[in-house]
Amino acid sequence: MAGSQVFPLTPLLRRPSRQPSAAPAPRVSPAAVRIPDPRQLSLNITFPAGQPQIFVHEGARQALERRLAQAYQRPVLLSVTDNCRRMISCSKRYGVLTARIHHMFLDAAPDVQDALVRYVVKSERGASQLVGKYIDENGHRIRATRALSFKTLTQGEHHDLLALFHKINDRYFAGQVDALITWGRRVRRPAGVDEGGRATPPARRRAIKLGTYSAMERLIRIHPVLDKPWVPRYFLSYVIYHEMLHHVMPATVVGGRRNLHPPIFQARERFFRDFDRAIAWERGHLHRLLRD
Ligand SMILES: [Zn+2]
Repeated sequence: MAGSQVFPLTPLLRRPSRQPSAAPAPRVSPAAVRIPDPRQLSLNITFPAGQPQIFVHEGARQALERRLAQAYQRPVLLSVTDNCRRMISCSKRYGVLTARIHHMFLDAAPDVQDALVRYVVKSERGASQLVGKYIDENGHRIRATRALSFKTLTQGEHHDLLALFHKINDRYFAGQVDALITWGRRVRRPAGVDEGGRATPPARRRAIKLGTYSAMERLIRIHPVLDKPWVPRYFLSYVIYHEMLHHVMPATVVGGRRNLHPPIFQARERFFRDFDRAIAWERGHLHRLLRD
């Protein structure tokens, strides 16, 4: 699939009324490449363990450095970072401005870059608000803030999560999703006890989360109840696709309330080829998933 394409074209032509108003920003700016997590690579490539963790397009870095130097009227040294906590830091010493700026700013709109320059060079208050808003909107582009303390498990007894993940990633996200995926841990539900003190089968679940996404770990967890031969691949793919959308689409905040599935999310969810089929399957099999 073409590198810049974000959604598949065919469903878009078929269902024009459901076209979302805007595509989410890619995880890394087009001018930077984050070294992929080796756990998720289908090729066996070894990257050096130390720095750098991203490769930055030198032309884009220099362009931003020039803008800063023009405003500062003195020399500027700009480094582009993939930090997870400090998005911007700078110091002015001996007439040289040293700035360290997150790569999300390399492809920011001109008004955001202007605000960034004013914020860094002149510490303008109004500029800091615009810059802060941009960081909020692009929080999903910040790398995992917490390292995984366990090994991911992608090969199940019946389904291979990584193979499905790569397929969906190529088809719907132009291969840009760099989240990790794993089967969740199988937790044994305790057996019940009947009136005569005999063990009974575990109680039926009341609800089940088939997939979750943790932005802190950049990790998609899929419930092990789905690793069954009777769970169709298109349904599992739908659950993975939904969680991948959480990875690329930040929650919207309206009136102080976080909405994880805003209308634009729901519209994009329907781009999934087997969306209707998957929803119907879930409806027909939820009782079995709750029991298993
Ligand atoms: Zn969701």
